[in-house]
Amino acid sequence: MKFAILDGKIIERREAKVDVEDRGYQFGDGVYEVIRVYNGKMFTVTEHLNRLVKSLDSIGIKLPYTMDQLNDLLEELIEKNKLQLGTIYMQISRGVAPRNHAFPTENVRPSLVAYTKEVSRPLESLKMGVKTIVTDDIRWLRCDIKSLNLLGNLLAKQKAAEAGCFEAIQHRSGDVTEGSSSNIYMIKNGKVITHQSDNLILKGITKDVILQVCERNNIVVEERTFTLDELIDAEEVFLSSTTAEVMPIIEVDGKRVGDALPGPVTKLLQEWFELEIEKRCGALNDKILF
Ligand code: PMP
Repeated sequence: MKFAILDGKIIERREAKVDVEDRGYQFGDGVYEVIRVYNGKMFTVTEHLNRLVKSLDSIGIKLPYTMDQLNDLLEELIEKNKLQLGTIYMQISRGVAPRNHAFPTENVRPSLVAYTKEVSRPLESLKMGVKTIVTDDIRWLRCDIKSLNLLGNLLAKQKAAEAGCFEAIQHRSGDVTEGSSSNIYMIKNGKVITHQSDNLILKGITKDVILQVCERNNIVVEERTFTLDELIDAEEVFLSSTTAEVMPIIEVDGKRVGDALPGPVTKLLQEWFELEIEKRCGALNDKILF
């Protein structure tokens, strides 16, 4: 039997149902997080919960739980579901109220939902790299909020899927922003270059870990806007996300990146990222074989 969290309680997964007038369901009026679990332990949970609160603050929802309460609930959920390797999906919406675009005026309690999924590490892709396409970034101007409204991201990802690719790299007038569900990086003269964390991208937790690891190992990072032309010309390209980790990109819109093999800097970052996982969550059984 699997369990889920619904409004602060752990209940049977199949009993976890939301009201048709939940504002998350009707308007996408809420935010979410996806947290990686390795060896039954949450990776960078504090960072995820901090980002959740930041997203909630940006749209004026007050979290009806303390961080400690949330953390304890999530730990209990992992234990009850006997999750070793996978993800937790959690979302908070503004709550249930008669349908109206403006926020409800009476005290409406935000709805919290969380459940787990078994997800292995994408080891084959991590080793071989993945293909991508390029597409216009048609999203709104607050991509820093991890909002439930994902239509722009979904349309981009669908284009990638139809092209047999792993990810769609989005750009605004030729300036690369981010993937449909990942951050994008290129390597130029040994330097790691990635879009600055402003309103046009989501500040990835994986990105934060990568930048810390770079700093510790004296790899120069430039957070700046870069163009599609620079990307095509880069020595190496990779993406990052909670589930994809440090994922080499070997093709952009049918054009090979370098020799169409994961490059040396990307491989180093993968190795350091694995070490970071092991430091926080214990030894991994299956690793990328270099
Ligand atoms: N950008 C977007 C649009 C995303 O959906 C994600 C994945 N949540 C990321 C970047 C990467 O964020 P993280 O490393 O926190 O998973």
